[in-house]
Amino acid sequence: MIDGRFEVVGAAGPRAFFEHLTAATLSHGYLFAGPQGVGKKTFARELARSLLCVTPKRTLLGWCGHCPGCTQTAAGTHPDFYAAEGQLKIGERDGSGFHDADEATARDLVRQLSLHSYAGGRRVFVLGDADFTREAANALLKFFEEPPPDVVLIVTTAALGRILPTIRSRLVEVAFPPLSEDEIVEVLRRRGVAADEARRAAAVANGSATRAAAFLDEGEGATRDAVVAWFFAAAEGGEADASAWATRPTLEASLETVKTLARDWIALGVGEGVPLLAGDQRARLAALPRREPAAYVRLLGALADADRIARTNVSPPLVAELVRIALAPP
Ligand SMILES: [Zn+2]
Repeated sequence: MIDGRFEVVGAAGPRAFFEHLTAATLSHGYLFAGPQGVGKKTFARELARSLLCVTPKRTLLGWCGHCPGCTQTAAGTHPDFYAAEGQLKIGERDGSGFHDADEATARDLVRQLSLHSYAGGRRVFVLGDADFTREAANALLKFFEEPPPDVVLIVTTAALGRILPTIRSRLVEVAFPPLSEDEIVEVLRRRGVAADEARRAAAVANGSATRAAAFLDEGEGATRDAVVAWFFAAAEGGEADASAWATRPTLEASLETVKTLARDWIALGVGEGVPLLAGDQRARLAALPRREPAAYVRLLGALADADRIARTNVSPPLVAELVRIALAPP
């Protein structure tokens, strides 16, 4: 019996959850839900690796790195491991529409799901940031009617609302919270980022390693600075210029920053010592005048609306204006 390796930063809750499962209590389907960049896909891959490792281990989590299962997984050739990202189309292109990075490897998900294991063990499917067409959803439902033994399906999403209720109800939901600043630093350090750079990026990442990495790429830092400046100008009732961030390519990420700042501001109103996601702005947020509870509710409503219409054709400056009105002092 070995402990095995499991290379995931954070995710204490999901880790504890799976460590308490056994082969007998493992379900056919899991839904990893949580914000972007908190390690859902990494965890899913590490879980898949663990499930395909054939060396006996103390818990479900962990892999040995040298058994035939581990060797094949590491080489990307394990016949019982499938991974795909994004929209799943089924039934197009004479039955093979299981979109993968490589079109040539596109397979029919359902056919694959119903086949037997090549290696005689488990088969693991990871569908990252899954978005199902109706056909794909219907096909998946057939799978759940009579799931073959030893198949484990892991779906990850940062947008729970896009998972059809009929699918969602058949998956066991596992929640992934935002990462702490220390955890983001750890993720970045593992990718070879220098300690001080990692610390700086983690402070503005809103709990997301993806956001931190984007910040380190040129340009993102400037956009974030523009959003922050706009947020405080709007909340103080000053001249708020959204032109630097309210553009099509930056709108969704920038709205995330606005949401984080708004939530932190509200959290500070609730009490001292609350952990903030935008820790670098604590002093400025604390200095903003408090609002009536009703104003906070209105602000959260406006942010939810902005989030929804940001995905439509509405012009980005209009989305910014909607939030500015809700942010403005009474
Ligand atoms: Zn192994």
